[in-house]
Amino acid sequence: MSLPDTYRLLYDLPADPGQSDLVPVVVTLADLLKGDSMCARLARYFMERRGAWIDGRDLQEVGGVYAWRSRVSDLRKAPWHLDIQNLQRQETAECPICDGDGYGTSLSMNCARCHGRGKVTFTRSLYRLA
Ligand SMILES: [Zn+2]
Repeated sequence: MSLPDTYRLLYDLPADPGQSDLVPVVVTLADLLKGDSMCARLARYFMERRGAWIDGRDLQEVGGVYAWRSRVSDLRKAPWHLDIQNLQRQETAECPICDGDGYGTSLSMNCARCHGRGKVTFTRSLYRLA
C-alpha cells in the first residue's frame, strides 16, 4: 500500500484548513506497516522486536547503510509516533587488527589500530521500541 500524497502534506495544512484543497485521510499504524518503504520495513523490524535492544549495525541492514538514522528519526515523528529509545555505551574488545597481541606488521612496531594495547574501545549504539 502506498499513501496518497495528500496524507504526507497534512502536517503542512494552513491554519484555516478550509483554504486547502487537501483531503484529510485517516491512516492507522497498521496501514503504515503494510507499506513497502524503508521506513515501513524498519518499523516492522522494531515492532517484531518490541522491548528488545537492537544494535545499530542490525538496523543498518534493514534501514539502509546511509539513511537508517534518518529513518529512525522519521519513525519517531508523525505519522509514525513510535517511541524508539536510544542508548550508547562504551565497550572494549580485542583489537581486530592485531588479534590482541599489540604488534603491527613488524614485531618491533606497535599495532597502528590499538597502539600496542591489544584492546580497542568503541561506542555501541542500541535502539529499542518501548
Ligand atoms: Zn591492535
